[in-house]
Amino acid sequence: MKLIFLGPPGAGKGTQAEKICEYFGIAHISTGDMLRREMREGTELGNAAKAVIEAGGLVSDDIIIGMVKNRVNEPDCENGFLLDGFPRTIAQAEALEGITAEDMAVNIDVPAEVLVDRISGRRMCSGCGAGYHISKYTKDTCEKCGAPLYIRDDDKPETVLNRISVYNDKTQPLIDFYDNKGLLKNVDGNRTPEEVLADIKALVESI
Ligand code: AMP
Repeated sequence: MKLIFLGPPGAGKGTQAEKICEYFGIAHISTGDMLRREMREGTELGNAAKAVIEAGGLVSDDIIIGMVKNRVNEPDCENGFLLDGFPRTIAQAEALEGITAEDMAVNIDVPAEVLVDRISGRRMCSGCGAGYHISKYTKDTCEKCGAPLYIRDDDKPETVLNRISVYNDKTQPLIDFYDNKGLLKNVDGNRTPEEVLADIKALVESI
């Protein structure tokens, strides 16, 4: 089972991806999480990508495609995987065609006016990278590993607008790309996480 999640920043891709991967026993591949880990560990890649990520831009296609190519060959991907945050450009989507054949692209649709509000409440664990939202979780340490929570630099209001505009320019065209391939399924993401999850599960079960 090879799934792709599409949707603007703040659509709930990460939250839904975690649950779907647990339920179907597939690997969760979040390029954003992978890059944040590289930054936390201060690797060459992490240091090179930091400025672009913090400005809300996109890391170069070559770097990202190389990362994903390696990742999908790891043993935990044998049963399948869910790509969360990749592809983000047409060039990445075309490169993916040479790496693997996808079964479905789920587009989580959320109106632009809701995104900024949602993102401003996000908190992230500095230890394990788990994500939280202040509407549901008010502690300032992680319930999984106990490390302090922080606000992602690219979740600050001035950067969020840039990320949404980068999404509109570079990533939104992927909706048509996957629709033309007959792989696209749209889900209304402007509902409770439980309702959205139920819809995605039903779609994935229909594969
Ligand atoms: P995310 O956690 O998916 O919102 O990703 C956080 C940031 O990492 C993005 O705003 C980009 O700067 C970078 N990033 C993640 N995935 C990609 C990708 N597929 N292509 C380019 N940059 C990416």
